[in-house]
Amino acid sequence: MYLCDIHSHTKISPDSKAELLDNARAAINAGLREFCVSDHHDLLDYDGFPAAPFDWPAALKQYRTAKEALGDKLILRLGLELGSAPYDPHAAREALAQGGEELDFVLGSLHNWIGFHNNDLLDMTSYRGDGPLARRAMESTLDHTWTLVTQMPDCYDSLAHISYPLRYIRNDGIYLSMADYEERVRAIFTEIARTDHAMEVNVWTGRDLDSWPPLLAWFRECGGRLITVGADAHRPEDVAKGIPEALDMLKAAGFDHVTTYERRKPVLHKL
Ligand SMILES: [Zn+2]
Ligand SMILES: [Zn+2]
Repeated sequence: MYLCDIHSHTKISPDSKAELLDNARAAINAGLREFCVSDHHDLLDYDGFPAAPFDWPAALKQYRTAKEALGDKLILRLGLELGSAPYDPHAAREALAQGGEELDFVLGSLHNWIGFHNNDLLDMTSYRGDGPLARRAMESTLDHTWTLVTQMPDCYDSLAHISYPLRYIRNDGIYLSMADYEERVRAIFTEIARTDHAMEVNVWTGRDLDSWPPLLAWFRECGGRLITVGADAHRPEDVAKGIPEALDMLKAAGFDHVTTYERRKPVLHKL
């Protein structure tokens, strides 16, 4: 089994204090062959304001230093979790261009409710007990995901955590499921497959394993072939948490390979 975790954060992200080298050492201890740092660059910040440019000089320096220190003990990749690209396509493309040749991997994500306060969907105080509002949050995510996959395929390699708002909506006691949006999700998956992009199985440090089996089945039925896996760790102790389970789920769903990225090209590894 090819153990890889290609979604993780360091102190370059606003919500992490981790050092890349500590994360990478944790990856080695967890038996990973390949690990990717994918710090946040959300075009909208947590409160919904346009964000400052990504700190590429710091990210590149950290990556190069860690790579040098690790030698051949671990395949370390440089990624970016690009959030809310449809909010400002020009800024999104600019940020990716600045990553230069060393950029291996781009996760396309949507954390914000674009067009409605623009704030992070994690802010569930605004949904408390309000089912219709929670449904609108989910629909907004699907609308903007559709824009990303149909109009901005150059702005992502793998679609990150498609069920992101449900994490928080569930916490708030409102039961919504991806099954309520099956037709729209299948349309998104069909487009991902048609354009040879990947879907991410994001296990959220082992906290979200149950969402994925039905989504993997739909993705496969829609012609999807490329799957990336990520624990989404924001601290060393969470690196690779849930990854072996994710790879087992891929196998059970009939996939033969897990995908990683090098210089934004997919590399398939037999499970
Ligand atoms: Zn994310
Ligand atoms: Zn993340």
